Amino acid sequence: MSLLANWLESLSYELNATNQCLRKISPYSTCTVCFDTCKTQAITYVKNGLEINSQLCNGCSSCLTNCPVQAIEGQSPTRKVLEDILYLDEGALPTENELLYLYKNGVRKISKTTLEENLEQIIAGTNEILNQMEMEPIIIGEFVENAHSTEKKLSRRDFFNKLSSDSKKIVLSSATPIKWRFNQSNFNRAKMFEGWSFYSILLDKESCTLCETCFRLCPAGVFLIDGDHLTIDNGKCVGCTLCSNVCRHNSIKIDSEIGKTKIYSYPIVKKICKNCGGTFNSCEDEQHCFTCKSSKENSILNFL
Ligand code: SF4
Ligand code: SF4
Repeated sequence: MSLLANWLESLSYELNATNQCLRKISPYSTCTVCFDTCKTQAITYVKNGLEINSQLCNGCSSCLTNCPVQAIEGQSPTRKVLEDILYLDEGALPTENELLYLYKNGVRKISKTTLEENLEQIIAGTNEILNQMEMEPIIIGEFVENAHSTEKKLSRRDFFNKLSSDSKKIVLSSATPIKWRFNQSNFNRAKMFEGWSFYSILLDKESCTLCETCFRLCPAGVFLIDGDHLTIDNGKCVGCTLCSNVCRHNSIKIDSEIGKTKIYSYPIVKKICKNCGGTFNSCEDEQHCFTCKSSKENSILNFL
């Protein structure tokens, strides 16, 4: 597809929740991240998912950069980055996650002539995360653009005006329309900083029945049964809390906590159910498989 075709396509590219949305995956999901982050009340939850009202959406893309499972796809707000400086005098405020992504890609300074309270808080929050990872903070100031720099990104309106007045050749050499779309998968914080984890995962071995519901639903592949061990890799966790939402026994607790990645390993045993005779995995010395135990709890079966 040509650059011009990409640009034309991007004009009608609205925000949209994909099938990765936790609310589409499970009715037990309590995720409200995009709803909480939207300042214009453009998001409403409907049965099996959500809707984004394009009339109310102002295109800030906060929902897109904050969604824990990168389930929202769409366009990016205008950003201008020259060398290691992000110029923020136009466009929507970035989120902490977007700043972390820009930091990861070389941004170390933010140039802003007037500093709004909200932006100050966002930068302070981002620097707190960087500090916990023992990384240099982002510096704020008024930085003069390098006169020799030729790379300049254009806002949609600038680009449109330029398209009308200049020749197509000139426009296409100075603008990169496809970059106006975010690749939402970039905002997976767990993948941005290798070796660091952002969440702690506490499994209560006594109440966990190893039913494996959370294993199957976890979008990040955190849980793995490897022979006679269950491993939990907290470096992959994106903090979506779907595992604790679906657990019937409240056996999993997820908390925000920055630290070095840890892989927890729990011994498990293969057992034969005294009721149905089927094999099952257990963390504890269980006598009955998960299905029979649940049935007993529901008083449907009489146990031997
Ligand atoms: S933040 Fe993501 S996962 Fe959560 S409800 Fe919104 S789109 Fe779904
Ligand atoms: S471990 Fe739980 S909170 Fe972490 S990514 Fe998997 S389902 Fe989400």
